[in-house]
Amino acid sequence: MFDSLPAFCPYCNKPAQLVSGDKIYRSRPDLKHLKFWLCEPCDAYVGCHRPNVGFGDGTRPLGSLANAELRTLRNQTHAKFDPIWKSGGLKRTAAYQWLADQLGIPVKETHIAQFNKETCKQALSVLETKSPITQPTTPIIQWNPKKS
Ligand SMILES: [Zn+2]
Repeated sequence: MFDSLPAFCPYCNKPAQLVSGDKIYRSRPDLKHLKFWLCEPCDAYVGCHRPNVGFGDGTRPLGSLANAELRTLRNQTHAKFDPIWKSGGLKRTAAYQWLADQLGIPVKETHIAQFNKETCKQALSVLETKSPITQPTTPIIQWNPKKS
């Protein structure tokens, strides 16, 4: 049921190295307990699912390894997408279903942590022009001073 480990680097196709979080974020010893898959020559990494939440021992990668460019794109995609469901405007699963429909990919493949550069760019352009939420979730209060 789990992907075979180790995770492979999609840039050089070599096995990645399992490291602790303080190796990735050198100034964050508090992240030492987190695991990452790292390919040092490619400067590519990905975090892991937390242990004991149905994804094994904390070494199952969240998605594919990403280099700096792709990490930025994935962060931008999350920043634009997450408010759709975090605002309560749409349930999380419905928001992912909407994104999957927009991208023309199955919802089970709609994980931003697994998106490549092209899919991120496609998602970003969708999110910049469309929204599944037609009604504002919070009333827009306008200050309309009456002219005296
Ligand atoms: Zn690599």
